[in-house]
Amino acid sequence: MQSVFVTGAAGFIGAHVAQALAKHGLRVSGCDLLSASSMLALQDGRLTALIRASGVDVTPLDACDTDALTLALLERQADVVVHLAALPGVRASAERPLTYANANLMGFASVLEACRRAGVRRLLYASSSSVYGQRGGQFAESDRTGPPTSFYAATKMANEAMAAAYKAQMGLTSTGLRFFTVYGPWGRPDMAPYLFAQAIRQGRPIKLYGHGQPRRDFTFIADAVDAVVRLVQQPLQQPLPDVLNIGHSQPVRLLEFVRLLEEALGREAQVEMHRLPPDDVAYTCADDRLLHRVLGGPMQHTPLRQGLARLVDWLDQWDPIPACQPASTC
Ligand code: NAD
Repeated sequence: MQSVFVTGAAGFIGAHVAQALAKHGLRVSGCDLLSASSMLALQDGRLTALIRASGVDVTPLDACDTDALTLALLERQADVVVHLAALPGVRASAERPLTYANANLMGFASVLEACRRAGVRRLLYASSSSVYGQRGGQFAESDRTGPPTSFYAATKMANEAMAAAYKAQMGLTSTGLRFFTVYGPWGRPDMAPYLFAQAIRQGRPIKLYGHGQPRRDFTFIADAVDAVVRLVQQPLQQPLPDVLNIGHSQPVRLLEFVRLLEEALGREAQVEMHRLPPDDVAYTCADDRLLHRVLGGPMQHTPLRQGLARLVDWLDQWDPIPACQPASTC
C-alpha cells in the first residue's frame, strides 16, 4: 500500500485531500505548522471533522525544517508527497512579503530537498492559477507564465522554476498543481466565497472589486480533491507533466457568483462596488485538456450553484446564526 505524506494537512485543501486519500485505502500522514492563530479554530475543526475521523496522523512540523521533514518522510516510508503547506492569499503577500518568502520559497526548497534525501518517488505541490498573470482566453500549461501581479504569484512562479531546476540538476521529478479558486466547506475565511457568505448571513456589506465584472474559474473542493487523488493513484513509474491546471474552463462573472450565493443563502447582499486593485486579475479560465488526458477522463465537475449550497449548509452548522428572540428586532 502506498504511503502518502501531506504537508499543510490542517489547511483547507490539505485536510480534504488527506481525508480522501485515507478513504481510498492509502496510508496517509501529514504535517502542519498549526500556529496561525487567526485560523486555529478552523484548523482544529478540520482536524476533528476530516482528519482524525479518517485515522490520519498529523504532526506539528514546520516544512522549512528540512531535517525534521526528511526524518518524518523516512519514518513513514513516504512514496508520495502532496505539498500544500504555504501562505496563500494575494493581498496579504504585499503586507508581509518576507513572511511569504520564508513559507513559500524556503518552505518549498526544504520540501524539494527533503524529498530528494528521503527518495520520495512522486511530489505533487500546490502552484496556482495566479502564475498566468493578467490575460484572457484559456490558460494552457504550455503558455508562458507571468508577469506576476502579486508577490504571492511570484512565489508560485519561483516554485515552478525551483522544481524545474531540481529535475534538471538532481533528477527529482515533480508536478505543480495550478489550482483555480478552490471553494467549499471548511474553506478559507480570506477567500470571497466564505467572506461574502458570512457578510451576507450577518447583514454586512460586501466589497465587489472590478464592479463585479471579473470572471473566475471556481473549483469545488471535492472536484479538486478528486483530481489530486487520481493523480496520486497514477502508477509511480508513469511520469506526470511538470505542471497541471486544476480547474474547469467555466469562468463565472462575480456578479453572477453573488446572485447564486444570495440564492443559496435566501438573503440579498448589500453590495459596495470598487475598482479592481492592481494585484487582482480580471479573469481566470483553466484549459483542462491536459488534466483530462492524464486522468484518462474528465475532471469531476460540481456546478457552482450546487457547490455554494454545500458551502452554505456547512456554514450553517459551523457558525450558526443565533435565532431571533421573540422580543428582539433582529
Ligand atoms: P490554507 O491556508 O488553508 O492551508 C495551508 C496550510 O499550510 C495551513 O494549515 C498552514 O498552517 C500550513 N502551513 C503554512 N506554512 C507552513 C509550514 N512552513 N510548515 C507546515 N505547514 C505550513 O490554504 P489552502 O487554500 O488549503 O491552499 C493550499 C495550497 O494551495 C497553498 O499552497 C495555496 O497557495 C495553494 N492554492 C490554493 C488555492 C485555493 O483556491 N484555495 C488556489 C491556488 C493555490
